[in-house]
Amino acid sequence: MEIKVQKTTAPKEKPADETKLGFGHIFTDHMFVMNYDTGEGWHNARIVPYGEISLSPAAMCLHYGQEIFEGLKAYRTADGSIQLFRPDENFKRMNVSAERMVIPKIDEEFVLSALKQLIELEKDWIPHTDGASLYIRPFIFATDPYVGVRPADHYLFMIILSPSGAYYSTGLNPVKIYVEEKYVRAVRGGTGFAKTAANYAISLKGQDEAHNQDYEQVLWLDGVEQKYIEEVGSMNIFFVIDGEVITPKLTGSVLPGITRKSSIELCQKWGMKVSERRITIQEVAEAYDSGKLDEVFGTGTAAVISPVGHLKWGDKIMTINDNKIGPISQKLYDTMTGIQYGKIPDDMGWIVKI
Ligand SMILES: *Cc1c(COP(=O)(O)O)cnc(C)c1O
Repeated sequence: MEIKVQKTTAPKEKPADETKLGFGHIFTDHMFVMNYDTGEGWHNARIVPYGEISLSPAAMCLHYGQEIFEGLKAYRTADGSIQLFRPDENFKRMNVSAERMVIPKIDEEFVLSALKQLIELEKDWIPHTDGASLYIRPFIFATDPYVGVRPADHYLFMIILSPSGAYYSTGLNPVKIYVEEKYVRAVRGGTGFAKTAANYAISLKGQDEAHNQDYEQVLWLDGVEQKYIEEVGSMNIFFVIDGEVITPKLTGSVLPGITRKSSIELCQKWGMKVSERRITIQEVAEAYDSGKLDEVFGTGTAAVISPVGHLKWGDKIMTINDNKIGPISQKLYDTMTGIQYGKIPDDMGWIVKI
């Protein structure tokens, strides 16, 4: 499919101070758009000036939430080249989400080539500061003007780009996490494994209550017994207990993170004992009491590795590794960011150059 390009006649001023970028506030000059209509398939692929879109107030996505998204980053290396980290995995996962949400599949190779073309056009927007990057948000949503419930016949696929600051400006600060016992995020047979807006809408209430108690994030337990650990809602979670690196296995209610997968692959390569298995919050608390809980960390594209310093489960507050980052967390962080920013050789074959 050919991609039409319409360049902006009014390019925006690029942010002068990259230390103030933050996350998700600023968008570049152009976006990628493509339409889907039943019968015609995906068509009218185009790169156009970034701007507002018009939708019917009856657009199905607004009423029943038929939407999926992805998140990845473009990195600028010291020699000025631009690279992506495992982007094929994002578009593969997008099709898994699409299948679950009855959204038409995309051609993974085509959208990756479209993304490369968009980034090539917007490359001056990629920050130069170490740790900063260009966040990439592909998403698909239903647009039919219809307030009945059924899978839609019309969709938009879009990619927007947002220059983002370094997640950690003052080193890897451990986060405080609250074990959620009232609300659940996903249930057996539900949409936990899909990257869909609904999973976030459902998580806001627990997140809000955690914030009110001065905790930054929520650790979700399984939706059936509320015993088994699942994930942090925008990050997967890992525990290091007595030398074993443990992460909950993908049972359908956990999002299959690409940073999770990469962390497992690195630990395996380093000869560590890595287990994808069910793990209860009780087991973690017992390991803590016997002094065997060495490290806890979250994994996700935004932070890469996020050490957990405090874990609150009911009245029990666990302080992990003295509220400092542990050696495995640090090694994973250094290796993954080293590969992403081209500071160390990519012997895993994860980098796609633009
Ligand atoms: C995106 C996401 C993650 C992390 O996935 P990565 O591919 O590592 O960025 C974890 N949990 C949820 C719910 C997510 O949406």
